[in-house]
Amino acid sequence: MMARPALFAALAVLVTAPAASETAWADTLVDNVQGQTIGADGHVERFKAMVFDDAGVVKSLIHEGEKTPKKGFQYRIDGKGRIMLPGMIDAHVHVMGTGFAALTLDLSDTKSLSEALAKIADYAKAHPDRPWLLGGGWNQERWNLGRFPTAAELDAVVADRPVWLERADGHANWANSAALKAGAVTAATQAPAGGEIIRLADGTPAGVLVDNARPLIEKLVPPPTARDYDTAFALAQQDFYRRGLTAVADMGATMEDWQTFRRAGDANTLYVRIMVYGAGIDNTIRIGGPGPTPWLYADRLRLNGIKLLLDGALGSRGAWLKAPYHDRPETRGLPNFTQTQLGNLMSRAAMDNYQIAVHAIGDEANAVLLGAMEDLSQTYKGDRRWRIEHAQVIDAPDWPVAARVAKSVGLIASMQPIHQTSDRLMAEARLGPERLAGAYAWATAKANGASLAFGSDTPVERADPWAGFAAAISRIDENGQPAGGWQPQERVTRETALAAYTADAAYAGFAEKRFGRLAPGLRADFIFVDTDPMTATPSAIRQTKVLETWVGGGKVWDAATPEGGTQSAAPAPKR
Ligand SMILES: [Zn+2]
Repeated sequence: MMARPALFAALAVLVTAPAASETAWADTLVDNVQGQTIGADGHVERFKAMVFDDAGVVKSLIHEGEKTPKKGFQYRIDGKGRIMLPGMIDAHVHVMGTGFAALTLDLSDTKSLSEALAKIADYAKAHPDRPWLLGGGWNQERWNLGRFPTAAELDAVVADRPVWLERADGHANWANSAALKAGAVTAATQAPAGGEIIRLADGTPAGVLVDNARPLIEKLVPPPTARDYDTAFALAQQDFYRRGLTAVADMGATMEDWQTFRRAGDANTLYVRIMVYGAGIDNTIRIGGPGPTPWLYADRLRLNGIKLLLDGALGSRGAWLKAPYHDRPETRGLPNFTQTQLGNLMSRAAMDNYQIAVHAIGDEANAVLLGAMEDLSQTYKGDRRWRIEHAQVIDAPDWPVAARVAKSVGLIASMQPIHQTSDRLMAEARLGPERLAGAYAWATAKANGASLAFGSDTPVERADPWAGFAAAISRIDENGQPAGGWQPQERVTRETALAAYTADAAYAGFAEKRFGRLAPGLRADFIFVDTDPMTATPSAIRQTKVLETWVGGGKVWDAATPEGGTQSAAPAPKR
């Protein structure tokens, strides 16, 4: 008999007599639910109860008009008429980036210098053993300060150790005197080319270092320890399951990231399933050796493949476009690889049967990538499911190439609906009117045979599947803009959105026989929510509250007892 988490036992009613029937001792019945999942045929399937076994695997769904078993199970969970869905899957996250962002101090919501200083003081008090205090998000414009903040102001709240805080734009850092001293930045220090040391009237450093002056101190920040990784990982994982995510695809893992996931798995504190893509060839091969790893810890962890970064982002004009930027005609962005280099890297990965996931944002990047995929599909045949991460701008002539790749080896369009609403005005400025039709073109990608997998790109955006779901079906942002939706022909149906956040996100990671739907033989990963995404308005879906999150038949989150929820262990996997 496996150990059950404390909360599980508290909520479930122990049923006494096991009976010899299709249900067996130690099974769990979840009944009285409004259940919805993507079914085997790709359409929404509704059910009123579910039975899972003591390994956390679904045995049966009970539909309307079918009889709910009255006995033969050990536990019964009363769903209380709530909406039950499969656990959400985020197909594009940065697990450790999310964790480290949560671990450092965020000043982005502060409205004055004094508010920021108070927050810094609290943070210092809460973290007495951190040798350096790190964070960012400050902006003196938002504080109406009219000048940069100073080291002396920081010293007044933290003087015992270095404080190093990045400005919201990532181009300047604010240091206290301990940090200046650590970096030996004095009145005599010359700023390196492309950098600036802000100084007081007498020439002493005032506390802010700009651009290329920042490494003077940045290089002294101690690298995170294994314990820091573990703490950050726990925070990322909490962020996921509280939002109803039971699985994620981690895009660009290093060996340190992988070792962190392994430590969590070994300690049985790995709750959320992670489909890992190594950062480039070297990391992928260091982690996986001659090929993808097996599924580990009862389907909680696997190295699936490799993540390559072909171009940059639209916002910073790093995305690789076919024609110049509308708002900066002297550039069309920059690729990280030539077409030949990209093909060579993809070929190396494909040879070892690693799944390939390539970040491509601009229309030229997508054209080059699709061309490379089509070429390689002559050599590397079969079910490859090559992934385009973001696929943000695709030029009309490239859709037929996408369709051919989709047909021959399988094509995944791993897209982030929330980017469309966040980026709308920026994308219009960068691309001009003509290229917008191929931007964030979810419906067209699907129509050309690509399988959609939706995600958030956290920590770039919050790991919130409900905001993404709302954007996916409306193309309207949280302020209701624009009326009628932006390029509304690219909306998807609710069913498509649910699939892209569950079954198809699992398919995108070769996990569809393990999780992503609620069906016999698949893991019992499910959530209770207060809003029905199949009928509610987009703005109501955006506000969805996740009431409980269960992974492999064990409860990992309960909104009613948040502290207990985070402490309860997942059941020890049997297989
Ligand atoms: Zn990303």
